[in-house]
Parts: sequence; C-alpha cells; structure tokens
Amino acid sequence: TIYLDHQATTPADPAVVEAMSFAATHCFANPSSPHAAGIRAFREVERARGAVARLIGAARSEIYFTSGATEGNNLAIKGVVTPGEHRHVVTTAVEHKSVLDSCRSLRAAGHEVTVLPVDGEGRVSARQVAAALRPDTALVSVMLANNELSTIQPVAEIGAVTRAAGVPLHCDATQGVGSLPVDVRALGVDLLTFSGHKIYGPKGVGVLYVSNGLSDRAPLAPLLHGGGQERGLRAGTVNTAAVIGLGAAVGVLAAGREEESARLAGLRERFLATLAELVPYTLNSGTGPGFLPHAVNLSFEGTDAQQLLLEVTDIAVSTGSACNSSAQEPSHVLTAAGLAPERIRGSIRVGFGRFTTEEDAVRAARALAAGVSGPAARTAA
Ligand code: PMP
Repeated sequence: TIYLDHQATTPADPAVVEAMSFAATHCFANPSSPHAAGIRAFREVERARGAVARLIGAARSEIYFTSGATEGNNLAIKGVVTPGEHRHVVTTAVEHKSVLDSCRSLRAAGHEVTVLPVDGEGRVSARQVAAALRPDTALVSVMLANNELSTIQPVAEIGAVTRAAGVPLHCDATQGVGSLPVDVRALGVDLLTFSGHKIYGPKGVGVLYVSNGLSDRAPLAPLLHGGGQERGLRAGTVNTAAVIGLGAAVGVLAAGREEESARLAGLRERFLATLAELVPYTLNSGTGPGFLPHAVNLSFEGTDAQQLLLEVTDIAVSTGSACNSSAQEPSHVLTAAGLAPERIRGSIRVGFGRFTTEEDAVRAARALAAGVSGPAARTAA
C-alpha cells in the first residue's frame, strides 16, 4: 500500500521507535519518584520538554504534556472559560471537532460562542476576528492549518488583534507544526496544541503550550484531578516512553523541516502533473504559500469518492477527516468553504510524507486515475 494519508497520522520515525524502546527498558520508573531511577526518567522527560520548547520558541516551563491534541484543545478551551460568569468565545467554522465540540459544550453551559465563517479557500481574516471581539470575550481559538483544505490561517495577524485587546488566543497547530516554522511569540498565541502522531512520533501523547503570562494572569482549570503532575494542570503519571518518543520526533523534525517541506511540495507537483495527463480533476485546496506544502484536496466530479477509495485498494488516502469517517454527513470544512455537495462527494485528500518516494507519487496518481475511469466509481445516472 502507498500511504498518502499523513494528515490522519504518520508512521513513527525509526529514531522515535529506538528512543521509545530505550525509554521502556531504562526509564520505566515513575518520573515523580525521588529515587535515582525516577530521577533518570524525570531527566529524560525534561529533556523532551526542552526539545519541544525549542521547536516552538517557548520556555520549558510553558510546555505541558497531554494525551494528544484532542485533550490539549479541550483543556485549553474549557480551562480558560470556566463555569460561573457567562463569557464569550470566538472560533471558526473549519476547526477540528475537538475545538468545535469543546465550544459547543461551553455553549450548553451558558456561554456564548461566535463561529466565524470562512472564504472559499477556508480562510478567516484578522479583521473578522477584530469585529467579533466583545468586552466579555474570554478566548479566541483559530487553527494554524486545516486538516482537510490545508489552508494556513493568518494566526500572527490575529495574534496582533487579540494581544491589543488583551484576549487570550488559542491555536490548534496539529496540522501545521510538522511543516511550518512555529514560534509562539511571533504568532502572538497564549495557548497552542499539537499531537505527537502527526509528526512521526507516538500516538497518545501531545503538547499544550500555555504562556507564562497567561498562567500568571488567569491559571487554567485542569480537566483531570489527581496527583498534580504537570504542575497541577494534567494529573496522571506521565507517559514517559511516549514523551521521550515525542522528544525524538521533534529532534528529527527540527533538523530537516525546511528541506523536507520543499521535497514534499515537489512530490505533490509531480503527483498532480501525472494525474492531469490521465483524468480531469478540480483542486479544492491551493498549492501556493497560503497552504500546507505536503497536501492537496481535489475532486473528481461525477465520482463517488467513498466508492473510489474502496476500489483503489493499493493506496491509502481519505475522503476527509479520519476523525469523521464514521459520520456520513459531508465535511463541515468543505461545506463552510462553499463547495457544492456534488464536488464534496467527489473529493479526496492526499498527503505526502517523510517516507513517500517520487515513484509512490506517480504510481498513486496512475492508480487513482484508473479508479476514476473504472465504471463503478462513476455516479449512476
Ligand atoms: N486538531 C487537528 C487539526 C487535527 O487534524 C487532529 C487530528 N485529526 C486533532 C486536532 C486531534 O488530534 P488527536 O487525535 O491526536 O487528539
């Protein structure tokens, strides 16, 4: 199988597997234990924390380990907007469900939520955010890059707006951190989340960045109560092997991100050029600087993409967000960008990754084209 679904998850880098194996064998002690073995595990966890902090331009004391971006998003949103007084939150229509549903839960608790619409590329503007702010706005949450359309949001511009207004800004950077430079101060964010498994690290571990400025002003309320790990924000014994694996993933990423992003953009170009010779398609995402370099969303009109992917069994791509694959509704992201239902029905998302070769890209284009030309993929008239 040619794996081209790197937005859903990535395979672990060999350096990550090695680090986790080392950790499982030699750092099994509880990093909170005061004996020598515990201190050794603690040191390795702190080393990983340092690597994560350096990756995003944060201080080590601003990094909290979670179980993934879903938990990080829930913690950031529900942690800032606590029960009691009724407050206002601003987000966008194209966020991941873990953001949208966290906001929905706030609404159910009596808070108000403004969900900003996006343009045809799936993008929100800083001006829209500025217009939505109110004196009672407690949080703005905007993602760095979209998991379906690859749209990069103008987070630094939004950060300038929220900073001037004194409103905390949360950014779900899960899809962006693997291919874009991320600097929390340049972005002007107070909270930022991502997941290990989207950057060739392990599943079940993620990062929540909380600026020290925010912690001093308005400490976050934890979701889990217990042993007070992660400075009281995330109780539960730290997942040492996963955290150490994440640290290794960050090391590999930081060493080669720029060249790798350029290589992946080249593979995407080759894939699209090969496809264009064989079958007509429409691009739903852009390939310019406002979009992630390694991914593309396209439609074969008149084709049922779900059916197509069942037939083209030797490549792994997806029709949209893997998190929503059980839902039969059309993608909320493509719908928000104004795509017609027919175009959404024929849409697939292709994401190239670290172990994708040029031959893979060409073979995938040929396999998809053959599938589209096959009879069963076409819409019954
Ligand atoms: N946010 C975005 C933008 C994502 O793409 C994903 C993963 N699909 C998540 C959050 C959730 O990540 P996890 O499943 O690792 O919690």
